[in-house]
Amino acid sequence: MSREVRICENCGVKNTIDKLECEACGYDLSFIAPVTVEENNGAKWKITSTGGSVSAFILGGETIGREGDILSDYVNDSDYISRKHARFEVTDDKIFVTDFSTNGTTINGVRIEKNKMTEINPGDEVAFADMAFLIEHAD
Ligand SMILES: [Zn+2]
Repeated sequence: MSREVRICENCGVKNTIDKLECEACGYDLSFIAPVTVEENNGAKWKITSTGGSVSAFILGGETIGREGDILSDYVNDSDYISRKHARFEVTDDKIFVTDFSTNGTTINGVRIEKNKMTEINPGDEVAFADMAFLIEHAD
C-alpha cells in the first residue's frame, strides 16, 4: 500500500495532498511536491536498502527477489538475485529469513544456511546476493 503525501519541511508531518497548509504547524505546503510513501499496515519490521533509497514494511510471509512481493523493481537491477531469493517470517517480536537462492543470503557478512529459517536482529545488515539491506523495527 502506498499513498501520496506532502511532507512538511518545517516539522516533517505527512499531510494528505489536498492540504496546502501543514495540519500540525500551519506551514505553507503549496510549493512542496507530493511524494509517494509506503503505508505501514501494522508491520513491526522494516527493510531499507543500505543507501537508504528504498524501503518496505514486513508483515511476514513476503518473498524478496526479482519476482518477489517486496522491492522487486529495485532488486531487478541485480543479475545475481534469484527470482524468489528469500522469504521473511515474523512471529510476535522476532523476524526470520529463509534463503532459497543460488547466490546466497548473508547476515552481517556471514552466509546463512539455505532452506532454514534464521533469526535477524534489529540493526543487522542482510544481503541478498550483492544487494544489502538494513532490517529494523518499524516506526
Ligand atoms: Zn508542519
